[in-house]
Amino acid sequence: MTVTVTFVGSGDAFGAGGRFQTCILVDAPGTRFVIDFGASSLIALNKLNILHNSIDVIVLTHLHGDHCGGIPFMLTDAMLAAKRQIPLTIAGPRDTEKKLANVCEAMMPGMSVMVPKFELNYREIDVMRPTGIDDLMVTSFPAAHTGETNPTSVRIEVAGKVISYTGDSAWTKHIPDLARNADLFITECYYHEKPVPFHMNYPDLQAHADELTAKRTVLTHLSHDMLTHKDNVPEECAYDGMVIEI
Ligand SMILES: [Zn+2]
Ligand SMILES: [Zn+2]
Repeated sequence: MTVTVTFVGSGDAFGAGGRFQTCILVDAPGTRFVIDFGASSLIALNKLNILHNSIDVIVLTHLHGDHCGGIPFMLTDAMLAAKRQIPLTIAGPRDTEKKLANVCEAMMPGMSVMVPKFELNYREIDVMRPTGIDDLMVTSFPAAHTGETNPTSVRIEVAGKVISYTGDSAWTKHIPDLARNADLFITECYYHEKPVPFHMNYPDLQAHADELTAKRTVLTHLSHDMLTHKDNVPEECAYDGMVIEI
């Protein structure tokens, strides 16, 4: 069975290189889900002519705006113009529902009184415990990133394939397990040389290369600095619209 991964957004928080913020779309038999949904993700989906109403599940790694800030716009459109009818599950780390309520009220004041006509489910995923979310089996690991975002890395099994993503995270002892024999390992690679705290940088990946056993690795969340160097590294780098079949 083939699983298709589309990098809807491969940029950092700040639009480096004109790229959209993190959103990774996965099409597997019987389900379509995204990992993260940044503030620019509706625009990015529209550019690719992908209807957000067709997404069954959103899995969030953490609660920074460049990974979850598009949800208020998606939900508002789903309730008003796009008239969504199929269920939607939003899964994420501890306090996802409460923190998203704050994000929604800050970005679209008044939307808290709107009642969706579709089934909207929130799921919060405990770290280190495989959790079934619809057709997915998600294992999240603690990530080393801004604590207030409840940061995690996620390993997702779907249709017999494994996709794992570091989210935003400096190197942790869990990352070899996250990447272990994954069909696709997506890792943040923020800066090429400069060590930036709370993020994975190219020297970290080089230092730990022999611990990473994924079948395929793609670098994402690239800063201006990393974009400048992306053609000089042997690793595969994501770009907006990149499609991978695994
Ligand atoms: Zn980020
Ligand atoms: Zn972040």
